Amino acid sequence: MSGKAKYFTALRGRESGREYPLDEVRYVCEFDFGPLEVKYDYDAIKAVLTRELIQSRPPNMWRYKELLPIEGPVTVGEQTGFTPLTKADRLAERLGVTGELWIKNDTVNYPTLSFKDRVVSVALTRSLEFGYDTVACASTGNLANSVAANAASVGLKCYVFIPQDLEPSKILGSQVFGAHVVPIDGPYDKVNRLSSEIADKYKWAFANVNLRPYYAEGSKTMGFEIAEQLGWRVPDNVVVPMAGGSLIGKIEKAFNEFKKLGLIDDRHTKIYGAQAEGCGPIVEAVKNGTDLIRPVETPNTIVKSLAIGNPADGYYAARGIQDSGGYAENPTDPETVAGIQMLAECEGVFAETAGGVTVAATKRLLESGKLDPAECTVLCITGNGLKTKECLEGQFTTHHAIAPSLKAFDVLYDEIHGTSQDKGKVGEPALT
Ligand SMILES: *Cc1c(COP(=O)(O)O)cnc(C)c1O
Repeated sequence: MSGKAKYFTALRGRESGREYPLDEVRYVCEFDFGPLEVKYDYDAIKAVLTRELIQSRPPNMWRYKELLPIEGPVTVGEQTGFTPLTKADRLAERLGVTGELWIKNDTVNYPTLSFKDRVVSVALTRSLEFGYDTVACASTGNLANSVAANAASVGLKCYVFIPQDLEPSKILGSQVFGAHVVPIDGPYDKVNRLSSEIADKYKWAFANVNLRPYYAEGSKTMGFEIAEQLGWRVPDNVVVPMAGGSLIGKIEKAFNEFKKLGLIDDRHTKIYGAQAEGCGPIVEAVKNGTDLIRPVETPNTIVKSLAIGNPADGYYAARGIQDSGGYAENPTDPETVAGIQMLAECEGVFAETAGGVTVAATKRLLESGKLDPAECTVLCITGNGLKTKECLEGQFTTHHAIAPSLKAFDVLYDEIHGTSQDKGKVGEPALT
């Protein structure tokens, strides 16, 4: 590495403050074994990065590139990010929100329909800068899909390690890109531990293990986009699904960086977290008023993308939520399914289980008075429902096939509505 980096200058121990040079791959502090994070030169960034410059760039996550840790040009995931932020008035009404409710919609992120494309774009671009020819990850599904697709797009070899009980669409959605998909007989925490050993022995770039300091920074772009798309302001509240607990902290970091750079006003945001009842170690900690995470040995939930029993950033997530004045909820699986349907019916957005749990958690937070319905709230919807559709099995009535005749439809119509109806004259809009 040549030390070309202009806006980030070192890796730094999150607790120890010890600094490490950028020319080698590291992810834990030698001094206290804590995580490493990227250190930026905010004065240098402030001198160049303006709203106008950002707005003049193409609509993808790289419009904030001075705040992302790559040295050269973007080589992976150039089109990722800048997903829609949409006002959710019908969902607001259903939930009893009287202020503003917004959906940050990463169900349509490029290329693999989840927020993970953001982190992978950074991690793989960085791994090419380090000269790796093989990339890998430990994943609950979405990360595997994204590493596999992005690796294929630049001809990198790819291995993904997953718990063996993932949804079929998430397994297929990695295999199709030619990745080696390795199912592990055990929960995510075992997959993760094995991945660290493989990373050490095989010297591959594991997006969320040895490249984690870079990977994690990609999540900030979800926060940058929310602030820009709200018209250069932050919301009063943001509700974020949590797996390892990284995204939630990076959204807060993104808001703080924009404030530090003078790009937005210094308004406070309360941070809210969502996990499933069957695997909610961070939520448990928040509800107990502590930052001590009690790991969940055997996660048991349909929300497989968030099923991390011992979350790497759980301590920081729990602390961040509490320090911000926010809270956290862990709805049941049936509440999650209802959340998926509510979001789909009200807003036309089909989210995966992690989206359902976020909507369901928001409902609980409103009902308990922890979330102020009169304020401005953004829900982070992080993955696509087509990947987890088995959770909806049995939820809908499928009409029997009818003959291709108007009469057959008239009969079906009466069946559906239980009565004969005036269907209007030909050429007029129907009354129902
Ligand atoms: C990975 C993931 C998250 C959260 O990830 P963190 O590990 O907490 O950063 C949220 N939603 C979906 C759909 C995910 O795949």
